[in-house]
Amino acid sequence: MNSGTDLADDLISFVNAAPSPWHAVQETVRRLDAHGYRQLHEGDTWSVCKGDRVYVVRGGATIAALELGDSPPDVTGFRLVGAHTDSPNLRLKPNATVKRHGQIQVAVEVYGGVLLHTWLDRDLGLAGRVWVRTPSGIEARLARCDEPMMRVPSLAIHLNRQVNTDGLVLNPQTQMVPLLALDQPAGAFELNRFLADAVRREHESLTSAEVLAHDLCAFEVVPAARGGTAREFVFAGRLDNLASCHAGVVALLRAAPAPHRTRGVFLFDHEECGSQSAQGAQGSFLRDVLGRICEAFPGASKDALPRAMHRSFFVSADMAHALHPNFSDKHEPGHQPMLGGGPVVKSNVNQRYGTDGEGQARFEAWCGEAGVPSQRFVTRTDLGCGSTIGPITAANLGIRVVDVGSPMLSMHSCREMCGAADVASMVAALGRSFSSEV
Ligand SMILES: [Zn+2]
Repeated sequence: MNSGTDLADDLISFVNAAPSPWHAVQETVRRLDAHGYRQLHEGDTWSVCKGDRVYVVRGGATIAALELGDSPPDVTGFRLVGAHTDSPNLRLKPNATVKRHGQIQVAVEVYGGVLLHTWLDRDLGLAGRVWVRTPSGIEARLARCDEPMMRVPSLAIHLNRQVNTDGLVLNPQTQMVPLLALDQPAGAFELNRFLADAVRREHESLTSAEVLAHDLCAFEVVPAARGGTAREFVFAGRLDNLASCHAGVVALLRAAPAPHRTRGVFLFDHEECGSQSAQGAQGSFLRDVLGRICEAFPGASKDALPRAMHRSFFVSADMAHALHPNFSDKHEPGHQPMLGGGPVVKSNVNQRYGTDGEGQARFEAWCGEAGVPSQRFVTRTDLGCGSTIGPITAANLGIRVVDVGSPMLSMHSCREMCGAADVASMVAALGRSFSSEV
């Protein structure tokens, strides 16, 4: 993997391996394991040594990976990249089976800020975790069904003549319910039996009675792909924010050595619904992991965590809005990031992003050192601004932060797009953030 082309293809592999946030962590662990990382468990006493490569998982969909330096973190600080594993989607309700008009449907909740109409007429599979009873207790099993098993059908234009002039308004309770099957008396559908079969394909044999609960997302089964006449685009679901997870992990695993300083990646669940959970960025995970690394580090000293925070820097990586050629008036005229134009530094004086002048200067310097272009973004002054884990992290830890992201279109659509060349550019920039002395 040396060229930008290959890294965009590697992103496609990452996205295809991660139809749910739990699968995103599984794929991250697979890559970390292949590079000699070992798992630390939160319930154990941690013992680490200089140069150690470790990771910690909380809640199945949040993970931290750290490569320890030679010097204690309170002396050299941490260099960190953060992103989120979750994406807006449709998720199964606890009692998911609905029978209406002789058909079986799947009751779903809307997770995060879904662009609802983009989920119509997609071939949908299911992925996530199934909780099962085992001889040693209640445990989670990852499950995914890549078959096009269900669909949210749109309403024919003949039955909604004004749709192209008045717009499409969808009721999420009644009009976004996927159609799963015809309700046939012989062989009646049973969700738990279906889930037991899905688990059996990857794990052990289960009966439907051993399936206790589920955390499941719908996803489009059509694999991510390259697009454009010169393969300059990536078309995929979940680019927000798997593209940043991928860039952070790949950058960590490929960054030039910087042996004295500890560096790492934090990938959080629950960003799309506000980050307030045990494994979200508002939770204690970041503080717990960094604090325990400071304490466990050989020769740890008093007040190591706040002293380390004073010397640390956190790059919050989340996708950015590229200029949309059909809606260019939605963009601030002086700040119009382009697909293929390199990493974007995102600013908002009202702290929707954590960037300040120092963060911008540092990140743009890293882009320069890496030999990649960079771009700047602020939202129009007459439009509201999205937010990220950047300000949350800055507030919780008192750490300096910059908010960045690769440019993309169709954010929060079932199928998004980004520039292929930007994949390698972001990996290179984040790599410099890990190894630069600036
Ligand atoms: Zn995001």
